[in-house]
Amino acid sequence: MRCLKCRQKAAVELRRHNSAFCSPHYLDFVATQMARNVKRHRMFGPQDRVLVAVSGGKDSLALWDLLLEAGYPASGLHLRLGIGDYSLRSAQTTRAFADDRGAQLIEFDLESEMGFTVPKLSNILKRPPCSGCGLNKRYLFNKIALDRGFDVVATGHNLDDEAATLMGNVLHWQTDPLRRQSPALAASHPGLVKKVKPLYTLTEREMASYCLLKGIDYVMEECPNATGARSILYKDALNRIEAQSPGSKQQFFQGFLDRLKPLLQGEAAVELRECALCGQPTTGETCAFCRMRERAEKHSPKPGTTSKVRG
Ligand code: SF4
Ligand SMILES: [Zn+2]
Ligand SMILES: [Zn+2]
Repeated sequence: MRCLKCRQKAAVELRRHNSAFCSPHYLDFVATQMARNVKRHRMFGPQDRVLVAVSGGKDSLALWDLLLEAGYPASGLHLRLGIGDYSLRSAQTTRAFADDRGAQLIEFDLESEMGFTVPKLSNILKRPPCSGCGLNKRYLFNKIALDRGFDVVATGHNLDDEAATLMGNVLHWQTDPLRRQSPALAASHPGLVKKVKPLYTLTEREMASYCLLKGIDYVMEECPNATGARSILYKDALNRIEAQSPGSKQQFFQGFLDRLKPLLQGEAAVELRECALCGQPTTGETCAFCRMRERAEKHSPKPGTTSKVRG
């Protein structure tokens, strides 16, 4: 196998593009894909302050690396979820990455800030850990970005993530999530920050190859709570289709963006008002995060300190 660009020995084969690249040209390919996505969806410009949500996994660290390499002085935000050794390793790996590059890292510790960890929250609410965890992430990424004056929150969602989410939304005909699923979600309210997914055209395997070739040390293990998640089932199904028919994942997701999404845009947007407790946009009297927090605080000590900034 030879590199498509220079005919040297290839390091990565991309069956879905019917091509292969040597190491430097593969890294160029990934950087070009990201730059194209940023431009195509007007995600952000050189003047914008970008906050990357960093878990310590391959996608978020690769995204942070790509943004820094492209000259964006992006900061990282890491939520310490309190999920045993997995969370400890995630925090260590994220810190090591930030220290190596002299990048600003904001760390937010759920237990000291809010009085609960994800497992504790799950016990209190009697709901699966991912439900409370997802709500915390959605709320805190936005709130911390807003409070600290960032223009945009970037996440490392890749093509596998987006295609699996789309499959779930279509299987259950969830029209609201379908309408909102997008590589770039504009800030539709002064209390909301723009959300973008610059890696949405690159697969999980392609991001792992990027980290390997760049020598990025990332947490390889999945969160223990991910076992049995629907998204993993959908990813497996899509991988089986992809193995027989390379390019299917991309056609599925890109086809949605090109053909179905424009038809959904005309639907009435939900009217938002301010949460009576925190002021964040919500459809009800108080937001889901404040309601969850109230229930959790009845069972936990009062929250303590403020988030820590490094770099
Ligand atoms: S798998 Fe669930 S609990 Fe683990 S980080 Fe993801 S959303 Fe949170
Ligand atoms: Zn080459
Ligand atoms: Zn609220």
